[in-house]
Amino acid sequence: MLVIKQGDITKEEVDVIVNAANTGLRGGGGVDGAIHRAAGPSVMQECRKIGGCPTGQAVITNAGNLKAKKIIHTAGPVWVGGRKNEPALLRSAYENCFRLAKENGLRSIAFPAISTGVYGYPIIEATQIALQVGKQYEKDFNEIRFICFSERDLKVYRKEFETV
Ligand code: ADP
Repeated sequence: MLVIKQGDITKEEVDVIVNAANTGLRGGGGVDGAIHRAAGPSVMQECRKIGGCPTGQAVITNAGNLKAKKIIHTAGPVWVGGRKNEPALLRSAYENCFRLAKENGLRSIAFPAISTGVYGYPIIEATQIALQVGKQYEKDFNEIRFICFSERDLKVYRKEFETV
């Protein structure tokens, strides 16, 4: 089942939440900062041990104080006009999150809108990719949640859901 809802991903009760991280796994602003603040230091400790995550890849850690069991950290692409392979990299980021979740036996997963904040990926195009990949993996999960932080994003997700 695919679910679209507005909210704060740190509060989601699912097996695994996805973090829109950076390639250094160093934490930062946006959803990344919110997740590390809510989860506590054990997650950053594990991120330091892992060391990094190339753009389009994903890694998994414990979830510290969160209700989720695990966190999957992925580095989405920075939008630089669409000529730097951004669509393929964003697709790969989503796919690798689903793949890792499956490999770890996790059956429910929540995503933020990867790359659409500071990284500047246009929201409509990013949403189409998120929902397309979500539909491909729907049968492998009990629930796939797309968590929209703003009402504007929620509207985009709902609209695009009708056409993908
Ligand atoms: P990126 O660097 O990948 O663009 P950002 O964190 O800047 O990552 O933004 C990604 C998306 O996450 C944006 O839509 C932003 O509004 C959203 N976001 C920020 N905080 C949260 C949160 N607590 N829960 C869910 N989404 C969030």
